[in-house]
Amino acid sequence: MAFEVFQFPCLNDNYGYLIHDSDSGATASIDSPDAEAINAALEEKGWALTHILNTHHHYDHAGGNEALKERWQCQIVGAANDAERIPGIDVRVADDDSVAVGGLIARVLEVPGHTSGHIAYHFAEQNVAFVGDTLFALGCGRIFEGTPGQMWDSLQSLMALADDTVIYCAHEYTQANAAFALSVEPGNQALVKRAQEIDALRSEGRPTVPTTIGLEKATNPFLRPDSREIQAVTGLVGKPLVDVFAETRRLKDNF
Ligand code: ZN
Ligand code: FE
Repeated sequence: MAFEVFQFPCLNDNYGYLIHDSDSGATASIDSPDAEAINAALEEKGWALTHILNTHHHYDHAGGNEALKERWQCQIVGAANDAERIPGIDVRVADDDSVAVGGLIARVLEVPGHTSGHIAYHFAEQNVAFVGDTLFALGCGRIFEGTPGQMWDSLQSLMALADDTVIYCAHEYTQANAAFALSVEPGNQALVKRAQEIDALRSEGRPTVPTTIGLEKATNPFLRPDSREIQAVTGLVGKPLVDVFAETRRLKDNF
């Protein structure tokens, strides 16, 4: 197998991800939530870190950059337009750039909203994307630096990926997200069923991540402003989708 993703919990509710190209031996950490946990994962797998692919500057995503770079002399990739906030950045990337991790090629998508410089990495051949804090299972990131319009555009660029694209998000927030999702779209049977599956997984301490674009389109309220039920709950029937999205996000902030 040329391509492997190793997923492990970090900090309180983050996920760490290592991706490995067995042909070249190249290994990237997606973000650096916790250098110690990442080093332990590398040791467990017997891999040497060659790259860090940062999605954004927050401490639980870039806080381990410097310690990991010191130990591994790895190359750090991050958003060109946010370079001053990415510790140790070596390679500055922008929308549609390609990033190589050995033989694995990611396309960069700029997805501002959670932060102004947030990016995602889409490995088309492997059919996986790492989306940081932009899209979560049944949720989306808080809009700290962007506008709802920017965040909606960013989510739409992720929705344009194939439905079977495997989505690795950076946090295990799914159970709390499900409670909110059910509050705005209780009639969505796919959501009701998924919420039950999530409860079962979490009661066994198992992850609910990764997800897929198709599953999120069917159940994630932030990707469903076209839902009549969500439009009714937000009081915005027939209104622009971006307005429905913005109101849904506002309701979640106060949930
Ligand atoms: Zn964040
Ligand atoms: Fe985060």
